[in-house]
Amino acid sequence: MIQQLTIPTPYAVGDVNAFLVKGDTLSLFDAGPRTPEALEAIKAGLNDSGYSLEDIEQVILTHHHPDHSGWADGFPNAELYGHEYNNLWLTRDPDFIKFHDEFYMDRFIEQGVPEKALGIVGKMKRAADLMAHRPLDHILMEGDEIPGHPGWIALETLGHAQSHLSFWNSKRSELIGGDLLLEKVSSNPLVEPPKGPDDPRPKTMLQYNASLKRLLDLPVEKVFSGHGMPVTGVHELVEKRLQKQHERAMKVYDMLSPGPRSVFELTVQLFPAAYKRELGLTLSETLGQMDYLLELGKVIRKTDEQGIHRYEKS
Ligand SMILES: [Zn+2]
Repeated sequence: MIQQLTIPTPYAVGDVNAFLVKGDTLSLFDAGPRTPEALEAIKAGLNDSGYSLEDIEQVILTHHHPDHSGWADGFPNAELYGHEYNNLWLTRDPDFIKFHDEFYMDRFIEQGVPEKALGIVGKMKRAADLMAHRPLDHILMEGDEIPGHPGWIALETLGHAQSHLSFWNSKRSELIGGDLLLEKVSSNPLVEPPKGPDDPRPKTMLQYNASLKRLLDLPVEKVFSGHGMPVTGVHELVEKRLQKQHERAMKVYDMLSPGPRSVFELTVQLFPAAYKRELGLTLSETLGQMDYLLELGKVIRKTDEQGIHRYEKS
């Protein structure tokens, strides 16, 4: 049995889903944002199936973002499972938090963000306000079977988040997909810090495309998604998302015709209004397109004397 719980969020994305799965154990995949309204919706959803918070034996996270992880500590009898990257956030690991700010500051300087806008670095950790505050009990890795749910296998599907897992059941041809593939909107491959300062910056757009392409190799018929209704016609939607992204990248490529540009300059041009409200998100999107074009060999990157990366057609 898989029951979708629809939970309100304070974010632009709207509602988020959690999935109640009854196997040999009773598990909840994802846990809404940490708001009172979300907790009420979770309680109501469980109640529809005759359960309460106390009955949940396992909480399994698709990723650490606050709309998915918020109430991971709200189930007194549940053990918590997820990708190890979740822990950096769920425990507010002090070394990671410090590194997080340094990471974004360095990236924004490379991207040519003007000094007066660099203050947003300090605000980017606000996402943690609506996350749960407890460590994982168990780490899941690529290929692990979910305890109590024979046939459900964890797939590491990074890109949207550095903690992102999806859960595949080959007998049912179904995937619990987190934010890997959404019915209505394309999923943003957010730029996130790696685990530590010695690791390279994850190229999240490339990771995300590789994760999407994994779906093309699986006979998946239905994806239970983090937002919106379950997706059928999965392969068609994957192809459409990949094609759209390629088209967006080529639009950015055309913007390089007059000469070299920084990620910030391109972002202002691409998102003339939105970049003021959502600087982190919009820069992330543009950097993703540049990583993609670099990978295709269509652009090259040079670093100027101020340390700003400028991209030009190759
Ligand atoms: Zn989400």
